[in-house]
Amino acid sequence: MNPTSPDPANAASDLVSRSRAVVWHPCTQMKDHEWLPLVPVAKAEGVWLETPDGKRILDAVSSWWTNIFGHRHPVIVEHVKRQLDTLDHVMLAGFTHEPVVSLSEKLVALTPKGLSRCCYSDNGSSAVEVALKMSHHYWRNTGKPEKTRFATLTNSYHGETLGALAVGDTGLYRDTYAPLLLTPITLPSPDCSLMQDGGRGPGESWEDYSRRRFSDARRILEAHAETLSAVIIEPLLQCAGGMRMYHAVWIKLLREACDELGIHLIADEIATGFGRTGHMFACDHANITPDFMCLSKGITGGTLPLAVTMTNERVYEAFYDDYATGKAFLHSHSYTGNPLACAAALGTLAVFDECNWMAIVRGLGQLMWTQTAALRSHPHVAEVRQQGMVLAVELAASPHQRKPYPAGERRGLRAYQHALDKGVLLRPLGNTLYLMPPYVITPAEIGRLCEVLTEAVDVATRT
Ligand code: PMP
Repeated sequence: MNPTSPDPANAASDLVSRSRAVVWHPCTQMKDHEWLPLVPVAKAEGVWLETPDGKRILDAVSSWWTNIFGHRHPVIVEHVKRQLDTLDHVMLAGFTHEPVVSLSEKLVALTPKGLSRCCYSDNGSSAVEVALKMSHHYWRNTGKPEKTRFATLTNSYHGETLGALAVGDTGLYRDTYAPLLLTPITLPSPDCSLMQDGGRGPGESWEDYSRRRFSDARRILEAHAETLSAVIIEPLLQCAGGMRMYHAVWIKLLREACDELGIHLIADEIATGFGRTGHMFACDHANITPDFMCLSKGITGGTLPLAVTMTNERVYEAFYDDYATGKAFLHSHSYTGNPLACAAALGTLAVFDECNWMAIVRGLGQLMWTQTAALRSHPHVAEVRQQGMVLAVELAASPHQRKPYPAGERRGLRAYQHALDKGVLLRPLGNTLYLMPPYVITPAEIGRLCEVLTEAVDVATRT
């Protein structure tokens, strides 16, 4: 080694100490890092992250589900670089620019028919806030100010800002702040997991169970229709709630009920959008158009923060009036429609245009399924479930009695540590281990991923 260059191992540990001294890491009990090492990352390419001392780590969770085409995809990088040469940022109130217009045109063409207006923000939670505010404001503008409430599903997650947190139902994130939050109306989730108490029976199909489950939801919607502004759902897949899944028929039935009862439908496709479930959008499985669709994460291929709330002409027109009527939607964020982020999104859509990615996602998803066959008979695996390129493995103390491991045992953390040792980034959600890799992963890398996942399940369930 050149005596003047820093030793990479020292540089890495120095970075970790400096980080612990000044950075408050997200979703983390910082005290854990007294014994659980932070992982420094120096660079990334494709599905691989690399530490300063050259260790490679396969990003099996697409860096919190954002990085759909792998890190530093050349087409996306090129779009951002080119944009940097001309326009970095300009406020979007009173001004416009090519990237935001082109992106909006493309999103209108790509999303379910009828979504024709794009309102930008810069993270998923904010996109949800926009949808909630816009929905209530629509009813206010159209003479129904009493519509002030929102319905959500049990076990749902829609983000961390107070409005988005309020319409979520994941106690781990929500309970502490409950005194600060709006109270939503909660509908029973159609979650088809066999671990759900009183849930789907072993012989019952996802579709039958989802249909059966809808009748309870419908009753609640009918009872509250007068005051309900909107129902918000994560279509097909409740991600942060433990990768719980359900059948598209439930979404279809919900769309019909919302139309009948005069309630908006908000589809939070922040995690499912851009192909993750094997269709471009999860709503496409049900062939429906929501009144609001929230998109973020994969929209820039995990390159830059960007989010959008899309809606239809009917909603747009309810705000379109003389200024003095006070009907305008006066919501804004400083970085709304940032040109660099829009360029990254245009790069991402250009990659989608290169080939039939949905066929690739379905093929790779199938491979993930076959390569995890052994897990389906593991004594501590309650269930392996899948939607597109999301495969989840539910650990249980006793699968037959639907008895989960106590959360305090942190079984998932054991799996995380084992996988990291083997060069794979898994970040379980409690007792749920899952794979959600970038779409550019190779079959051989999937093989490696499934091997490490299988070992990690053994390690996590050892007494
Ligand atoms: N909705 C869903 C379905 C999500 O998965 C997330 C993020 N995990 C959010 C909203 C919030 O997005 P963000 O973290 O960008 O605020």
